[in-house]
Amino acid sequence: MTKGLVFNIQRFSIHDGPGIRTTVFLKGCPLRCRWCANPESNQAEMEILHTPAECVSCRSCEAVCRYGAIRFQNGSFHYDASLCTHCFSCVGACPTHALAVEGSWYTVSELMEEIRKDDPFYKKTGGGVTLSGGEPLFQEEFTKELLEELKKQGYHTNIETTGYTSREYLESVVPFLDLIYMDLKHPDSGEHLKKTGVPNDRIISNMEWLLKQKVPLVVRIPVIPRFNHSRETARSYGELLTKIHAREVHLLPFHQFGMGKWKALGLKYDYENDKTMHEEDVREMADILKGYGLKVQING
Ligand code: SF4
Ligand code: SF4
Repeated sequence: MTKGLVFNIQRFSIHDGPGIRTTVFLKGCPLRCRWCANPESNQAEMEILHTPAECVSCRSCEAVCRYGAIRFQNGSFHYDASLCTHCFSCVGACPTHALAVEGSWYTVSELMEEIRKDDPFYKKTGGGVTLSGGEPLFQEEFTKELLEELKKQGYHTNIETTGYTSREYLESVVPFLDLIYMDLKHPDSGEHLKKTGVPNDRIISNMEWLLKQKVPLVVRIPVIPRFNHSRETARSYGELLTKIHAREVHLLPFHQFGMGKWKALGLKYDYENDKTMHEEDVREMADILKGYGLKVQING
C-alpha cells in the first residue's frame, strides 16, 4: 500500500484557496530556496529536529546513538543526517523534548479520515483540501492517489506547487485539481538557479501549458529582499506573465517564520538580518504588475 510522508496537517486554513480548508504538508522538494519557511520539508524522509532553547546539554542523545550521528563539539550539539538510521532512540532518550521527529507516514485512507473531520466547514464555506509542502508533487504516486480519492469523494482540491515536475506527471494529476497555486520565484533563470538550486524554464513551460489548457491557475511570487524585490524585476515579471497569458498573481511578502526551524535543523539561515515585509513594502510591485493588466492580490 502506498504511503505518504506528511509533516503537518493544518486545519482551518483561510489563505490556501477558497473557503475554510485543510492543508496537508508533504515532505520532499526538488528546490532549495534559501528563505524557505518550511526547511523541515526539504528531505523526503523523517528527520530529527533539535531545539537549542529546550536543550540542557545532558548528552543522553549522544550516548544512546550507536551510529555516531550526534556529537557534541565545543559544547554544541551536532547532527549528521547522513549517519542517522532513523531509529529515534535519541528522541526517546531526551528528557526535555528538545529532539523531535519530523514527518509521519500515512496511507490515503488514514489521511482521508483526518480530512473528513472538517467536512462541515468545507460544506459551509465552499472550502476543501490544499496539498502543500515541500513540493506536494514530489511523492508522485501517493499524491496522485490522494488527489484521485479526494475528487472521487467530491472535495475541492488545490495544490501549492513549485511547478518543478515532469509534464507527463503534471498531465496525469490535472484532472483531479480544481485550482493550482504555482510559484515563480524569479523571472530570470540564472537568478532563480542561484537562490533555489534549479533554473526556471521547466516551471515557466509547465505554467504556460496549464494556462493554455485553461486550468485555473494563480501565480504566486514570494517577495524576497535582495533577490526579486525591485521595480526592474516587477517589470520582467509583468512582461513574462502577460506573454504566457497569466491573469492572476499573489504577492507574498517576506517573513522570517522559518528561521527557528533552520536553526533547529542545524542549517545556516541567510535572512536573519532582513526585516519582515508588510503590504506597503510590496505595493509598488503590485502597482507595476497591475499596469500589465494582471489581477494582483497581496498575501494571497
Ligand atoms: S535517530 Fe537513531 S541514528 Fe539517528 S541520531 Fe537518533 S539515535 Fe542516532
Ligand atoms: S538528550 Fe535532549 S536535552 Fe540532552 S543533550 Fe540531547 S537534545 Fe539536549
